[in-house]
Amino acid sequence: MPDWIEQELAKRSEVYPTLDSRVALVVEFSRLNIEHKTGGPFAAGVFELASGRLVSLGVNRVVASCVSSAHAEFTALSLAQQRLGSFDLGGPGLPDHELVVNWRPCAMCFGAVIWSGVRSLALAGSGSAVEEITGFDEGPLVDDWIGELNNRGIKVADNLAREAACEVFRAFRDSNQLVYNARRG
Ligand SMILES: [Zn+2]
Repeated sequence: MPDWIEQELAKRSEVYPTLDSRVALVVEFSRLNIEHKTGGPFAAGVFELASGRLVSLGVNRVVASCVSSAHAEFTALSLAQQRLGSFDLGGPGLPDHELVVNWRPCAMCFGAVIWSGVRSLALAGSGSAVEEITGFDEGPLVDDWIGELNNRGIKVADNLAREAACEVFRAFRDSNQLVYNARRG
């Protein structure tokens, strides 16, 4: 992660008791990531579900790290798993964890959410707005993606800060930064 992340986190609380405060944090960091020009307009955080303690915060680092999987969800989940010493965030002896993202996971990150062990996914928004505003291709997702997550014991909360997230996407569009995409079918 870029250096500014720890500097910004040091100014803020370590605990986010409400869902609104968790979503506001990740939307704010998606904005900071484009202001610092350190990646795409995406941020994600892993929180302890009950207490709201922030375990990790990740941003999109695809271009800077030369790694196509360095989406915000991947970076946040990987950091949390390494910090907790467990590839399964729902493993024995661990509290339940929640992944909070500033938009619906793409085709790749949808799978990553399932494999991560989180019990809850909270989103600022979902749908085609991100593609319409920025030109990013989120890839093919199953229609009933919420149902598929629910079937695996992962609760989903959506549309928690849709307009704030879209405002960041519009700022990204207007900044003329690189839009990296998979090869479209
Ligand atoms: Zn993704």
